[in-house]
Amino acid sequence: MVQYNDDLKQEIRNANDIVDVISQYVILKRSGRNFMGLCPFHKEKSPSFSVSADKQYYHCFGCGKGGDVFAFIMEMEKLSFKESLEFLAERGHVRLPETNNDEFNKKQYLMDRMTKINLETTNFFHERLYTPVAKIAQDYVKQRKLDNHTLKAFKIGYSGEYNELYTFLKEKGFKDHEILATGLVNQNEKGEFIDRFRRRLMFPIISATGKPVAFGGRRLNDTDKGKYINSNENLVYSKKRHLFALNLAKQSEDKRIILVEGYMDAISLYQRGIDNVVASLRNSINRRTGDATSKV
Ligand SMILES: [Zn+2]
Repeated sequence: MVQYNDDLKQEIRNANDIVDVISQYVILKRSGRNFMGLCPFHKEKSPSFSVSADKQYYHCFGCGKGGDVFAFIMEMEKLSFKESLEFLAERGHVRLPETNNDEFNKKQYLMDRMTKINLETTNFFHERLYTPVAKIAQDYVKQRKLDNHTLKAFKIGYSGEYNELYTFLKEKGFKDHEILATGLVNQNEKGEFIDRFRRRLMFPIISATGKPVAFGGRRLNDTDKGKYINSNENLVYSKKRHLFALNLAKQSEDKRIILVEGYMDAISLYQRGIDNVVASLRNSINRRTGDATSKV
């Protein structure tokens, strides 16, 4: 919460002369040391609404309403005190200190950066699948008979082997805290940045609006731990809210949706022309431990 201290209130008052402010709503005529007009808060034919420039105060002798410039704006514009303060700060060009809005903007900015990182990462993994370093992934894809159209449609990729992704993202200008927020890279006790997904076939999880939000990575070597590793939930990714392949399924002419268990189930059906398929991401804990219920 923002602290609106007395200094700030006074600064805003100084920047909004009450006669100027009220003149925007009421026709005021000088009367001795004060100004008089028809009260905007009750019906009257002769003016009983008085504004004092010296005291920066208004008072109506008809209905009894009165107060300072904040009270006037609250009553006139039907605002809360906080809103009247912001209203007058803007009118008087007074800069408010850090507000909840800034917190909100910071969070929005971080989410935006994370989305950009996920997009760059998707392309990085996907392009890497077609390079000689990805031989092990190419062999797996061949064995599973995934054709190139399918690889492209799902943006399937090959991860780095140590810190290739981290190095790539740094070259793209992303900050460490932004990269860590995506969970794509971890920092070890020595302070080194290590890719979370290593030597894995990568499946980006793409939102219904086409933005990659997370990744699943399948091991390609039986000695690696965990058949599947999946992104943890974060600012842009929720296992409850997202479904694998929904971005493709929503383009299907078939309005029904088939829910399957794993990435590869959805991908194989898609390749066979069944394109209204999505995979749930909520059982990913089972997949991570590679237990017997996993079909992928
Ligand atoms: Zn009045």
